[in-house]
Amino acid sequence: MLGVAKNANADEIKKAYRKAAIKYHPDKNPGDKEAEEKFKEAAEAYDVLSNPDKRARYDQFGHAGMNGAAGGGAGGFGGFGGGFSMEDIFSQFGDIFGGHFGGGFRSSGGGGRRVNRGSDIRVRVKLTLAEIAAGVTKKLKITKTVACDKCGGTGARDSNSYATCATCNGTGYVTRVENTFFGRMQSQGVCPTCGGTGKVISAPCDKCKGEGTQRGSEVVEIAIPAGVGEGMVLTVAGKGNAPRHGGVNGDLQVVIEEEAHPELVRDGNDLIHNLNIPVTTAILGGTVEVPTVDGRAKIKIAPGTHAGKVLRLGGKGLPDVNGYGRGDILVVVDLTIPSKLNTEERRLVEELSRQPGFQKAESVRNQNIFERMKSFFR
Ligand SMILES: [Zn+2]
Ligand SMILES: [Zn+2]
Repeated sequence: MLGVAKNANADEIKKAYRKAAIKYHPDKNPGDKEAEEKFKEAAEAYDVLSNPDKRARYDQFGHAGMNGAAGGGAGGFGGFGGGFSMEDIFSQFGDIFGGHFGGGFRSSGGGGRRVNRGSDIRVRVKLTLAEIAAGVTKKLKITKTVACDKCGGTGARDSNSYATCATCNGTGYVTRVENTFFGRMQSQGVCPTCGGTGKVISAPCDKCKGEGTQRGSEVVEIAIPAGVGEGMVLTVAGKGNAPRHGGVNGDLQVVIEEEAHPELVRDGNDLIHNLNIPVTTAILGGTVEVPTVDGRAKIKIAPGTHAGKVLRLGGKGLPDVNGYGRGDILVVVDLTIPSKLNTEERRLVEELSRQPGFQKAESVRNQNIFERMKSFFR
């Protein structure tokens, strides 16, 4: 769509998108549906290519990979399938053309009837490792602005409480001349007084004084997919604040927080556990318990296990949020050596120390550390 090579860099992609956006811009092609489609396709292509994660997926799976593969759940993680609205595209323009251009387009042009939109709400949700591992549905009570229950959000006393807007004489549009990136353009803008409806309220609702809103709350159920991480934001469309005078609700943004686990430390999709075993178990071998996300597991310690050895419990880590498999639990062995010995213990250890197997120091120590690091960072 953008006519760029498969290995095009960010600058080339941006340039190509600018060119396409200018060529197919609705202001340049009034009423041309085909141009509008091309304009949207270009914006979608740019969205994919400018996002490293989406681009990788596209390179791997092609167009099909963009549908819903983004981790589905939670009504968040915008897939590709739904397509872009003009609003989305114009809001993206700020990045491409810099500064004020984004705003300039927003209200101009044929398709640009403006819809009142409420503000977004941000909430934090704290999840345990077990919840992250399995995915979880949370019910949150959100305190927010809701539509007035008397007027239904319109702000008018009843259906007869409207008058023709004096600013636009009821057309809903005003004509203005703007200097834009594409040159001087005459554009039909949405009437700022009535917001495009052509009507104004003559008698306000007495409950909300014409605002159309009131304070309220809503219980929102959020399906959080498995594998999410600290700081991730899930967007639940339409569950934010209601706007004044009716329109579309804002979004609810759910920010994920991880509750620290007492024994497991997260590293991507892997979990690290520092395991202390008695020095005798390290010498003789044995079975020990280690924590997992949903309980405990028994693992075998081989005779002659060194401190720093990493044991891997394959697939016992966290599921990848995009569905690419599951991490491991890495058990890092450390030895507990008693700091105080009683007389009997001291006698036994002294006797042990005279045995041939305990006479020489480990000569492969350094190599061991190297091997350990390799397995750790592999
Ligand atoms: Zn009201
Ligand atoms: Zn008006």
